[in-house]
Order: sequence, then structure tokens, then C-alpha cells
Amino acid sequence: MRQESVPCCVVGGGPAGLMVGVLLARQGVEVLVLEKHADFLRDFRGDTIHPSTQELMYELGWIDEFQQIPHSIVDHVDLNFDGKIFTFADFRRLKVHCPYIAFMPQWDFLDFLATKGKEFPSFRLLQSTEVSDLLIEGGRVVGVHATAPDGPLEVRANLVIAADGRDSTCRIHSGLETITEPPLIDVLWFRVSRRDDDKVEFHQSRKGILTAINRGDYWQVSSVIPARAFAEVRAAGLAEFHARIAALAPALSDRMSEIKTWDQVYELTVRVNRLTTWHRPGLLCIGDAAHAMSPAGGVGISLAIQDAVATANILGPKLRSHTLRDSDVPRVQARRELPTRITQKFQVTALRDLYPKNLHDDTVRHMPPVFTALRMFPLLSHIMGRFIGLGVRPEHITS
Ligand SMILES: Cc1cc2nc3c(=O)[nH]c(=O)nc-3n(C[C@H](O)[C@H](O)[C@H](O)COP(=O)(O)OP(=O)(O)OC[C@H]3O[C@@H](n4cnc5c(N)ncnc54)[C@H](O)[C@@H]3O)c2cc1C
Repeated sequence: MRQESVPCCVVGGGPAGLMVGVLLARQGVEVLVLEKHADFLRDFRGDTIHPSTQELMYELGWIDEFQQIPHSIVDHVDLNFDGKIFTFADFRRLKVHCPYIAFMPQWDFLDFLATKGKEFPSFRLLQSTEVSDLLIEGGRVVGVHATAPDGPLEVRANLVIAADGRDSTCRIHSGLETITEPPLIDVLWFRVSRRDDDKVEFHQSRKGILTAINRGDYWQVSSVIPARAFAEVRAAGLAEFHARIAALAPALSDRMSEIKTWDQVYELTVRVNRLTTWHRPGLLCIGDAAHAMSPAGGVGISLAIQDAVATANILGPKLRSHTLRDSDVPRVQARRELPTRITQKFQVTALRDLYPKNLHDDTVRHMPPVFTALRMFPLLSHIMGRFIGLGVRPEHITS
């Protein structure tokens, strides 16, 4: 078995893992990121780069390069709730350099971060390397077991950062306790062709919820269904599925025939949970590994990035000077737990009325109180823009 020894090993090369790896390497910390996939080319992942993340790119001096990556811009989000159109979130008054959400394929964003990392000699990314277990000695996490392309690999580290997403292997083996919210929704993703004269709003809700992301020559469409209802959707047949989508977005009705088999429809199960404690000696969980986020508001990537920045700010200098103590690690949770809890509460509670309860629930839902307030007081859309765009307690690059 090949063995490696590093001050910091990051498990997972998603937004949280790559960002923390790059920021630590930028501070001169030797860091090894292990990613199980060979590339970042996975479709149907979140594509939203929030103003908070773009501001970090600015603070790092990377914004010009970042903006070279093809993306589209949304500076406010209009909702169509049963024909009533109103602004849900407005980012235009945010005091940041990029007051808008950039829609960018996540693989391009991750490629960008990985390329940035390679500029720092102390950054290493091993792809096609899957972590299978934690290495625990005397109750302390001292590294991980992994399988690399050339065989088994053991990495010993002063600190293991688990950023391996909502199905985190590290979390499973850590013994840390998880609080799980009851499942409310799942999401079906598919793509249909796009025409330049299409009039499809970004988001519409009526007897269901649909979001359409402009990907140039196609729409990437997500449709919210009640939790665990995909089997029932399939049993009802494709014609019924086409009709449901056409009712939500009539402009797409002539293209639903492009969905010819269920293989073209991807089910993503939504989970909302969080660890009561994000750490144990030698281990810190961040991003979805610490708190799986719902897609509501598209804030999961933003929160994962914020966790990464807080981790690098708090632990980077200690790792660099080899003075990290186990008692330093809980400071990351202390910093990031409140923003996470508030955001999850909003995703689960404030939008609860919006979610379809079952597939036969054909009544037009009552507008959630938060939507009513936004319709009555349009200025609130700027507060919502701040909440979604910057989040609670936004992080900044401190070193
Ligand atoms: C249906 C759905 C839609 C969503 N849409 C959005 C959206 O539009 N915008 C948004 O901001 N958020 C969205 N989210 C949430 C968002 O995807 C996550 O919150 C975000 O990706 C979390 O980032 P992360 O780095 O913590 O984890 P992930 O993005 O899950 O990254 C984890 C990484 O770890 C790797 N990995 C996993 N296990 C191992 C292992 N054992 N060894 C090595 N590597 C491993 C994975 O391959 C992956 O690259 C959505 C979520 C769902 C469920």
C-alpha cells in the first residue's frame, strides 16, 4: 500500500473541498485533495455562483479570469405564482462588485478552482481516488484509506477535512450524529431544446414548481415533485408527465415530445440534514458533508464555499505554523452553524406551502406568507436578494 503524509487532507473535490484546498495552499499549507471522479463533468448539479462567491473571486484578484468563463447573469428573480408575477429576490442594490447570480456549469467552476490550485506548489489534487474509510488511532482521526488508480492509498494527516458531499463516507465512519428534516420534495431534471424567441420564465409555480435554466441551445429544466413520488410519476406515463410540465410552462409544451424515455429524466432526491457536531479530534466536516442543503434558493454551493473560507481563515494560519490544536477546530462550526441553521429553516419552513403534497393535489396552493409579503412590499425583494445573494454572516478572505 502506498502511503502519504500531509498536514491537511481534504476528501472531496466539490465546491467546498476545492475551495478550502486552494485557500489553504494559497497560505502555504501543504494540502492534498482526494476526489473520487476522474473529472468534474457531471450534469444536473447546482450551477449558481452567488454574489458572495463572486465577491470572494474579486477579493482573491481572480474576478477577471473568472468572468472569462461563459456564463449567464440573473440580477433579479421573478416568480410566476399561478399567473401572479412578482420579484422574489433583487440583487441589484447589493454593494458588491457583481450584484447578480452567475449561471455557470458547475464543472467549469470546479475546473477553474482546480486550475487556480495548481498555481500553488503546496496544492495537490488526486482524481479517481475514492476514500473508503477513516484511519482512527486512539480515538483520533489520523488519516484516510483510499483507492487510487495505482492501488490502495493510505494518507496520514494532522487534519482531515471531509467535504465529500451529502453521502459523505467520512461522515458515515465518523460516528457523528445527524439531525434530518422529514423529506418534502425531490427534483426531476431533464433538458429540452431552446429557441431564441422562447418566453420561458426562470421559475414558475402553480400545481407544481418548475425552474428553467438557459443553457444556450437547450433548457435545463427542473421540476419539483413530492418526496419519493418518482415511481408514481413514471407509472402515470410519459404523456401525463408531458402534460404536467406543459401546464406549468406552456411555452415548452411543443418540445416535451423530445422526452421519449424515462432515461432522459434524472431523479435527484433532496435531503436536508445537519450534524449536531461537525468535528471530532483530527476531523472537520464542511459543506454538504456537514449540512445537506435543499435546492431551494440555490444556496448550497454558496454555503459550501462560505464554510471553506471560514475554515481557511480560522485554521489556515495554525496549519501553516504547525500549531493546530484539536480545540481550534470547533471554531469553524461556531462560525458557520448559525448561517446554516437559518438558511435550512427558511428552505424547509418558509417555502413549505409551496411544495406539492402529493401528485393528485390539484388545488392551486395558497401563496406562502413570504410571497404575499413580497408582492405587497416590493422593497422586501432587496432584503431577500441580500439573504440569498450574500447569505447570513458572509465570509471574506482575511489573508
Ligand atoms: C436537486 C438538487 C439541486 C441543487 N441545485 C443547486 C443549485 O442550483 N445551486 C446551489 O447552490 N446548490 C444546489 N444544490 C445543493 C448543492 O449541490 C450542494 O449544496 C453543494 O454542491 C455542496 O457542495 P459540497 O462541495 O459540499 O459537496 P458536493 O458538491 O456534493 O461535492 C462532494 C465531492 O466529493 C466527492 N466525493 C464523494 N465521496 C467521495 C469519496 N468517498 N472519496 C473522494 N471523493 C468523494 C464527489 O465526487 C464530489 O465531487 C442542489 C441540491 C440538489 C439535491
